[in-house]
Amino acid sequence: LESLDVAAIREEFPILEREFDGQQVVYLDNAATTQTPDPVVDAMSDYYREYNANIHRGIHHLSQEASVAYEEAHDRVADFIGADGREEVIFTKNTTESENLVAYAWGLNELEPDDRVVLTEMEHHASLVTWQQIAHQTGADVEYIRVDDDGRLDMDHARELIDDDAAIVSAVHVSNTLGTVNPVSELTELAHEHDAISVIDGAQAVPNRPVDVGEIDADFYAFSGHKMAGPTGIGVLYGKQDLLEEMDPYLYGGGMIRKVTFEESTWGDLPWKFEPGTPQIAEAVGLVAAIDWLEEIGMERIQAHEEEIARYAYERLEAEGDIEIYGPEPGPDRGGLVSFNVEGVHAHDLASIMNDHTIAVRAGDHCTQPLHDRLGVAASTRASFYVYNTKSEVDKLVAALDDARQLFS
Ligand code: PMP
Repeated sequence: LESLDVAAIREEFPILEREFDGQQVVYLDNAATTQTPDPVVDAMSDYYREYNANIHRGIHHLSQEASVAYEEAHDRVADFIGADGREEVIFTKNTTESENLVAYAWGLNELEPDDRVVLTEMEHHASLVTWQQIAHQTGADVEYIRVDDDGRLDMDHARELIDDDAAIVSAVHVSNTLGTVNPVSELTELAHEHDAISVIDGAQAVPNRPVDVGEIDADFYAFSGHKMAGPTGIGVLYGKQDLLEEMDPYLYGGGMIRKVTFEESTWGDLPWKFEPGTPQIAEAVGLVAAIDWLEEIGMERIQAHEEEIARYAYERLEAEGDIEIYGPEPGPDRGGLVSFNVEGVHAHDLASIMNDHTIAVRAGDHCTQPLHDRLGVAASTRASFYVYNTKSEVDKLVAALDDARQLFS
């Protein structure tokens, strides 16, 4: 693979030129949200300048243009993730809402007392809290596939938990804390052997690697636009068409109905049945621009670049000697982020020192509190990389560690 022209890529992100106290920003918080390149901002700005209107096929020209753009955005996403068509692509607000949609529209109706909901110990709160609460409401049990000391799923334990009592297996594709790339096809296959459905949280996968939902064979797959060079306010729920057809809507209102009387209503076609009210039209336009932009670079190259930066960061941090790094060693099952703790320095203090150097990292539990309990720490510092990051930015991170040690240890 030809490596990326990172200098040219960075030119499309004016925000990366910003300085605070004379120091250029080093943005290593990409697992929280990625930056937005000019073509995406321009596409959204063009929408508002040129064809802003409500959709649902108004009679006038502007509405028709907006409707076509919004509808075709579903086709573009379907094509990007290997879905069969727009019927399988529902626009939501974010990954969290996508998870809630499955939990309410499928889980609440289908789960029965003593059914087993199988999660992993490395789930993000977006799926963990959601399924936990739906389980409370339905009487289902929740069990967690153990994470071993290397930060990988214990697949023997997975095989124990995913038996005929399992109704649903919900797993994160790439962990936003450990960086682990989970065997989601294998988990989905196990689920299907026992007539359970699989829900995959792809928030940290779709932005960073080629993803084909057909290959994974997942029943549902969720991700967010804002983590893949796209805008905030739009997420995606992929679902298999037959399941989506069977499911009742999760939210009700205009735009999702076929016929309404004072007594009864019937639902429109997929995917509109799950998209009531005025949707994220500008954001859908922005998401399409982001996908075009990512595909022009190439998802394989993006993945290779991030893995190279993450490996470099891992090795440099490991060489420091007083740093505990969480998750697997660099390799094919590790994505582009590194969470760690420096001995004697609290993660929040470290992030604050990093900020003094204009280095943006995240400190906390990264919405994986139970996993941090399992790791035996309250918090960690996370550096997460994207297509515009460089090794010299990692060098700055490592150089700033000394300040933290001097101040806090
Ligand atoms: N799952 C994972 C793995 C994530 O990293 C995130 C974002 N940190 C989410 C879910 C939630 O995404 P959002 O906040 O866009 O709903």
